[in-house]
Amino acid sequence: MRCPFCGDSSTSVIDSRLSTDTNSIRRRRECVKCNKRFSTLETSELAFPRVIKSDGTTELFSKNKIKDGVLLALEKRPNSQDEIEKTLDNIYNLCLTNSDKEISTTHIGKYVMEELIKLDHVAYIRFASVYFNFNDMESFKQLIKTLDNNLSPEMKKRQSDLLKDE
Ligand SMILES: [Zn+2]
Repeated sequence: MRCPFCGDSSTSVIDSRLSTDTNSIRRRRECVKCNKRFSTLETSELAFPRVIKSDGTTELFSKNKIKDGVLLALEKRPNSQDEIEKTLDNIYNLCLTNSDKEISTTHIGKYVMEELIKLDHVAYIRFASVYFNFNDMESFKQLIKTLDNNLSPEMKKRQSDLLKDE
């Protein structure tokens, strides 16, 4: 992406926004050389980062692949279609906003978990157990701790109320 002011080819991305109606991405960029800012409108196939897998090979960003993983974790959970769509959009947006040309599968996994924990804790644990490939107790304990820290005050109250009744 060349700077329209000085023609330099090094620009950094300041902000990315996915417009869902046109399926394109508006990016605010800043020229590394002259520091001037400009916007670009990119179609999503081109604008999504390349995915770097753990073995170092790369592949095209696939919304469907992420969606499949999320839907699998949400199987038989009572979430509405709207909630699921919103969660997916948030994940795609996080991937876009926090990367330019490349993103690692580790980061994608992190963004999926960040959004799943807000939507459904069972799905979060399901996804995390596949993602982390639990083979030691320590990472599982860490996960439960993260989950506990993310409970809202109302949920914590509900949890302690339930315990009192027993
Ligand atoms: Zn420039």
